[in-house]
Amino acid sequence: MPDARPRPTPTPPDPADLLAWYDRHRRVLPWRARPGETADPYRVWLSEIMLQQTTVAAVVPYFLRFLARWPTVDALAAAPLDDVLTEWAGLGYYARARNLHACARTVAERHQGMFPSHPDDLARLPGIGAYTAGAIAAIAFDVPAAAVDGNAERVLARLFSVETPLPAAKPKLRALGESLVPEKRAGDFAQALMDLGATICTPRKPACALCPWRDCCAAFRLGIAENLPRRAAKSERPKRVGVAFWIVDGTGAVLLQRRREKGLLGGMMEFPSTEWTAAAPANPAAAAPVSAEWRALPGSVRHVFTHFELTLAVWAGRIAGRGDPALGVWVTPDRFAEHALPSLMRKVARHALSKAAGG
Ligand code: SF4
Repeated sequence: MPDARPRPTPTPPDPADLLAWYDRHRRVLPWRARPGETADPYRVWLSEIMLQQTTVAAVVPYFLRFLARWPTVDALAAAPLDDVLTEWAGLGYYARARNLHACARTVAERHQGMFPSHPDDLARLPGIGAYTAGAIAAIAFDVPAAAVDGNAERVLARLFSVETPLPAAKPKLRALGESLVPEKRAGDFAQALMDLGATICTPRKPACALCPWRDCCAAFRLGIAENLPRRAAKSERPKRVGVAFWIVDGTGAVLLQRRREKGLLGGMMEFPSTEWTAAAPANPAAAAPVSAEWRALPGSVRHVFTHFELTLAVWAGRIAGRGDPALGVWVTPDRFAEHALPSLMRKVARHALSKAAGG
């Protein structure tokens, strides 16, 4: 809808003001080069892939573990995929872990272990989209490329008072971001924009009084900073339900199976379950890999995926003797951490154990 309010005509934002602020207030992050240090493209890439749709606080321990175990892209490329998935477990969006591994292999095999520096070449690698390509090119190689993520989009929408809702506003915000990238210190500029969005220009209650761009910020002048960026109304996620089976053998081990390679949580380990469907399965026991006297545990496990919301009931059953290895791997709960269990399945395990089903 057209906005009838008069548009302010502030002076254009000066990248130098943001860089001066960054020199004083930059965050110290384990993947970030300190002043005077040269950025390590492997660290930059690893952190950017991990940070997609995840917070800095969640990523730090994973990043440090990955780096300790695989200090170079060649080491990561040589690792078995299953080890990578296991280390990744809990970080979500497992297609990213597979792409991470595929990308490491491509860089090791086709680029002699060196990441390319041009955004177009980076964007040809598995798991690297336009944003990540720009971020790596800028941060690791100081190429004047824009890195417009969600934080930067928020800053830019406010700075230029863009009222078009997201996601329709994305191309415009990206173009605005590109228009600001300086020829020199492009990497610092990209990180400064991220830091400004993360620490000052926050989604709620932006600290405009501390902002280096306050005098040129259109949304600040109009007093609408907190209302931007606007977002198109989201349709509600569809709901699905299913039953997970907690099957314990005579030694106390629980059955884990590997999911199909393709699709949601591809290649990860899971407790066997029915299909996840809109309507509750009519006869869940028919989907169980063993016959047992099933006990429906009280409560349920809820998990939100990008495209649907899942509620799993958990049924517990016991079998005599040692479990059949043809069905999957039988693992005692104290060794679950050695397997690539996604967050959903960790929730199932916690739920089952809290109901004392494993005893
Ligand atoms: Fe964000 Fe406020 Fe700075 Fe504008 S002045 S960019 S709204 S923190």
